[in-house]
Amino acid sequence: MARHIYVHNPFCARKCPYCDFYSVTDSSCIEEFYKAAIKETKMIASAITDKTASNPLTDIDGKDTIYFGGGTPSLPDSRLITELLKEVLSTFNIASDAEITIEANPSSVDERKLTEYLQAGFNRISLGVQSLDDEVLKTLGRLHDSKGAMEAISLVSRAGFKNISADLITGVPGETLEGVKRDIDTFFQSGVKHISTYSLSLEEGTPFYVKYNKTIEDLMPPDTEREMYHGTREYLQSLGYETYEISNSALPGYRSLHNSSYWNSCEYFAIGAGSYGFIGDIRYGHRNDVAAYIKDMNSITEKDYKDFVEGKTIDSHSLYVEEVLSRDDKMREVPFLRLRTTEGILLDEFYKVFGVEFEDVFADIVKSNIEKGLLERKQRTLRLTRSGLDFANAVMEDFL
Ligand code: SF4
Repeated sequence: MARHIYVHNPFCARKCPYCDFYSVTDSSCIEEFYKAAIKETKMIASAITDKTASNPLTDIDGKDTIYFGGGTPSLPDSRLITELLKEVLSTFNIASDAEITIEANPSSVDERKLTEYLQAGFNRISLGVQSLDDEVLKTLGRLHDSKGAMEAISLVSRAGFKNISADLITGVPGETLEGVKRDIDTFFQSGVKHISTYSLSLEEGTPFYVKYNKTIEDLMPPDTEREMYHGTREYLQSLGYETYEISNSALPGYRSLHNSSYWNSCEYFAIGAGSYGFIGDIRYGHRNDVAAYIKDMNSITEKDYKDFVEGKTIDSHSLYVEEVLSRDDKMREVPFLRLRTTEGILLDEFYKVFGVEFEDVFADIVKSNIEKGLLERKQRTLRLTRSGLDFANAVMEDFL
């Protein structure tokens, strides 16, 4: 069975005003955090020894994946990152053809770090570029400018990374479709194989929410944002990128296997404060609290962790069970996850796993969304139409 492991580095040099991912800017306890993460790696591995995955669509891709996300994983000393990766690789006996990704911020990568990442086994890097327009980067409060972003791409490529991904944010006030297309052209010419395009959203609790919530008209009008979304997808396709998911596009052979594991309902283990995982029937999380994480991981025993992955809550602990999924829940999750992908819901796969036809279980919902022109059936798949992409969340929520 393929293993999928997510490691959350909860440290950033500065908080971007639109971001609601868990991260802190005080990294005084970073060494202790990584020690705790190594301990958690050992705990998970010991807890799952006897456990067989009961998730329905596991192993569609069949390859192991490891993903260091954040926060800013390129911020800490590379020694901390590579020591943890070494532990994950050996403890989980990860296959040599695994996809191993690290997220990096253009403002915190350098030649030495990149060389050490490659030597340790990372073979994919995801750069948080967000834009190559200095005005847009200023609006987003990023630490780098376009020159810094281009230097980072070239550094990553010279260091020897072949599988490079870059993030773009669309729908930023002042951004234009022409500008986004120029950024994509530059990525394409610079050897970027995978592009994630995220629409800017207002998340409660962020400075952007305070700034724009009452004057929503200062943001990009929804129609213009949608035009930008579709225009961006079409442009990516014209260059040969396959738009394989709502926000992700890749040249052939460069899809993110790790992200695909989420959409395939695969089991994945999470390490680090602020991260989420899925073991057996349990969706679980770690509280957004680095200090509590360090304290709790220092005292947790193998038995505690074993009980936890069986669904037992540990009182006032960083680890918490978010949901124990029934067979019904798992069926409902399939459209929620798979409709994000361009392939959509694979009806034969669903039947193979659950022994019932998807269109029998969800007959009314499927019918009404097809009638509204938001879903379409193509042979043995069911997927969002072009207009369905604009109402993706509403369609997916219909199934929950
Ligand atoms: S660097 Fe990334 S994770 Fe950190 S605050 Fe900015 S957007 Fe969020």
